[in-house]
Amino acid sequence: MKELRKYQMYINGEWVDSSSGEYFASYNPATEEAWCQVAKGTTEDVDRAVQAAHHAFLHSEWANMTFTERGRLVRKLGELIAEHADALAEVETLDNGKLIREMRGQVNYLPEFFYYYAGLADKIHGQTLPIDKKDMFAFTSKEPLGVVAAITPWNSPLYLTTLKLAPALIAGNTIVIKPSEMTSASLLELVKLVEKAGFPSGVVNVVTGFGMPVGDALTSHPLVRRIAFTGGSESARHIVRNSAQNFAQLSLELGGKSPNIVFEDANLDNAAMGIIAGIFGASGQSCVAGSRAFLHVDIYDQVMEKLVDRVSKIKIGDPFQADTEMGPLATHAQLERMEQYVSIGLEEGGKLVHGGKRPEHLEKGWYFEPTIFEHTDNKSRITKEEIFGPVLSVIPFKDEDEIIQLANSTDYGLAAGIWASDIARAHRVAKAIRAGIVWVNTYRSISPIAAIGGSGLSGYGREGGYEAINEYMQDKTVWINT
Ligand code: NAD
Repeated sequence: MKELRKYQMYINGEWVDSSSGEYFASYNPATEEAWCQVAKGTTEDVDRAVQAAHHAFLHSEWANMTFTERGRLVRKLGELIAEHADALAEVETLDNGKLIREMRGQVNYLPEFFYYYAGLADKIHGQTLPIDKKDMFAFTSKEPLGVVAAITPWNSPLYLTTLKLAPALIAGNTIVIKPSEMTSASLLELVKLVEKAGFPSGVVNVVTGFGMPVGDALTSHPLVRRIAFTGGSESARHIVRNSAQNFAQLSLELGGKSPNIVFEDANLDNAAMGIIAGIFGASGQSCVAGSRAFLHVDIYDQVMEKLVDRVSKIKIGDPFQADTEMGPLATHAQLERMEQYVSIGLEEGGKLVHGGKRPEHLEKGWYFEPTIFEHTDNKSRITKEEIFGPVLSVIPFKDEDEIIQLANSTDYGLAAGIWASDIARAHRVAKAIRAGIVWVNTYRSISPIAAIGGSGLSGYGREGGYEAINEYMQDKTVWINT
């Protein structure tokens, strides 16, 4: 049997085995075969990594660096990622099955996040306070928090780590990252670049392994000052309870059931393409997937026709082929989940108009057809629950009041899309929808400058933009009696 590539963990500037010496396999979703093995971390490894990060925060040269010096290192890391973008993209495609062309696009854009935060490094400052007491002077300064724990899911390991890593480092924190057990490899490749960039030992650490025990030990460790979590709501509840032991600060980037709304005056071709890219990009495994398409009754049939016509031509297959439009799902469990949701959709009276099964022409790989359901209302489970895969629910609406009510009839509050020519109406609806991000006549656009985040079951806190700097810093107020 072919020897599998082996990935160790990165603790205190060294590549190490786990304290148990054990490894677990990671699978290629396109072939269903194990392609690498990853060190299986333990609670002792977590403690070692957190202690190293704590020591680096207080006592290493990192602790004494100026903001500008930290900015230079973060910029250097961005440059190294740009140099190695294609290789990083290939590893992520191997591990989670996302299209290589989508991954190349995403990874080639990641350096912009590092450059953005590096550029902010020397613009972070406190303020003087106009104190209303005679002979008193007061000012605030910005301080880092300490050890940050970053926990990420399998769908976009590099991008979702970048959103945490770049601002946390610029702020002067140290970090322990736990990637998903399904997709650890691309992050470990990125950490090789952290090492090359010259960050002091202990500033960035990675402990690989499972939610239990690694994620659990990390989020309950008394030296962790902030937890940045992206993942599902069940894990989030557990982490919130863990954080209560030490009052670690938290940001939770969770799921969504995002509406993509098409008004009768929209450019219908653009809207149809936006809906398709919004739900079938990354095979629907995106927190902001536009999984509910609401079409105005006057243009319902026209848009449906465009959707079905284009979706029936989507080329599913090998994610490494340049002309493939949809790759496999990341895990076998995901495939079973799609099949379950299709059964639920049919039982609840949804009309399956496209897909709903594994493609017949592919013998291997965790592939699932792009699937479209029509519904008369927004009440069934598949229109309410996050499916996290290529399943779209299409629902008609009559007017502005009804669509606001329908769009908000979910416990999530992450993202929304609006397709309309009447910009005044688009503004009104954008304001009324409960979501952290609203895209008008576009969908899934990202930029380092624009923060993302949600409310309700989608979590709290913001990643990206200047807001993220504040999430990783605290103000100190100094009073001086002159
Ligand atoms: P998950 O919650 O199962 O796992 C996420 C991470 O948490 C993994 O690293 C896992 O090992 C870890 N984990 C699991 N149990 C834990 C515990 N008890 N304590 C500490 N850590 C634990 O989620 P997933 O299946 O990997 O990802 C899918 C979910 O992520 C979806 O709900 C999706 O919407 C969400 N997501 C959100 C965003 C966003 O930015 N809002 C982005 C991508 C994915």
